[in-house]
Amino acid sequence: MSECIVIGGGVIGMMTARALHLSGMKVLLLERGSLGGESSWAGGGIISPLYPWRYLESVNRLAQHSKTLYPDLVAQLNDESNLDCELIQSGLLFVGDSEKEQALSWAEQWSENIQPVDGRKSILSIEPVLNDGVDRALWMPDVMQVRNPKIIKALKASFDRLGIAYREHVSVQDIVVQSGRVTGVRVADEVIGADRVIVAGGAWSAGLIDAVQHVDVEPVKGQMIMFKGEPDLIKRIVLSEGHYIIPRRDGRVLAGSTLEKTGFDKTTSEEALQALRETASELVPALGLLPIERQWAGLRPGTENGVPYVCAIDEVEGLYLHTGHYRNGIVLGPASVQLMVELVLNKETFCDASPYKVAATH
Ligand SMILES: Cc1cc2nc3c(=O)[nH]c(=O)nc-3n(C[C@H](O)[C@H](O)[C@H](O)COP(=O)(O)OP(=O)(O)OC[C@H]3O[C@@H](n4cnc5c(N)ncnc54)[C@H](O)[C@@H]3O)c2cc1C
Repeated sequence: MSECIVIGGGVIGMMTARALHLSGMKVLLLERGSLGGESSWAGGGIISPLYPWRYLESVNRLAQHSKTLYPDLVAQLNDESNLDCELIQSGLLFVGDSEKEQALSWAEQWSENIQPVDGRKSILSIEPVLNDGVDRALWMPDVMQVRNPKIIKALKASFDRLGIAYREHVSVQDIVVQSGRVTGVRVADEVIGADRVIVAGGAWSAGLIDAVQHVDVEPVKGQMIMFKGEPDLIKRIVLSEGHYIIPRRDGRVLAGSTLEKTGFDKTTSEEALQALRETASELVPALGLLPIERQWAGLRPGTENGVPYVCAIDEVEGLYLHTGHYRNGIVLGPASVQLMVELVLNKETFCDASPYKVAATH
């Protein structure tokens, strides 16, 4: 019997399980496939919403708090796993300045550093390989990235090191509820008992919890490609009209991503590959000469306005929902985990928890 079962081994479930374990709770994490094998692996690892000023205050609240938590979290994970998660302050260059007013007023509200950049020379001093046509931009020098597949590896190593219980290739079929309180979960031919259950099943969460509570979480497919280049070809994350380029330390460059509502289908298409390659090569012509090493797709846990569910389910004692981080699970993760853990432990929360409840702003 566990004190708490976490369903889903993406970054959200894994970080939640680790934090609860560190608080002294006996936790068991159940993952249908391999740890981190879904959206959390497929993502880009940018530690900022793409256009933060377009998001609600509740998303920014978590994002801003996460940014302060990341350096320590990554240092601990690096320590526990002996792996470098590649937390890098590469900065983010927004091509064009049509949203300058909104961006600057957001920056003032959140004490962020956004610098309008005007003229070719100034742009090149930030990112020398951008195409000739770019002469206006917004520059956020403090934006970090993390190599998300490495975060997953490090979290898994941390589980092993700290003795956090987990089972892979175990699919939860039902949440067991008796007399209005959760008593465990059903998997294949066994029921595993627990006092508390946290649903962190990413894009699959709605199906897991539907018998108890309807929630709006739907899969939104994102396709991505990866170029194989030399280190330092590109230094900055570059974003133009929703498309981005993320340079990794070893020279690999990610270009993403599509937004497709096609159910639970994770297939990739030649059309998306060509479109992503074309947009990336327009921004940085040198990319057009590089081979594409890989293409993949992941299913984001989409919510209408990007506000995640971080809450107790009122109808069932001991049942919690932690999902719907949509395009921002990596950046929102640490803060959202802190909030979840505070709710589970019945502690004062670091921020107002009401926007993250079912039927709040969703
Ligand atoms: C192309 C792309 C780019 C992205 N870029 C970024 C970015 O730059 N920055 C950022 O912050 N975010 C980014 N994201 C979003 C981010 O990856 C997600 O928000 C985040 O990974 C969600 O994590 P999760 O743990 O909720 O979901 P997942 O990683 O999908 O994990 C959910 C897990 O639950 C398991 N599960 C489901 N049902 C069951 C069941 N019945 N029993 C047991 N286990 C079950 C699944 O197998 C899965 O492993 C991106 C996403 C994509 C696809």
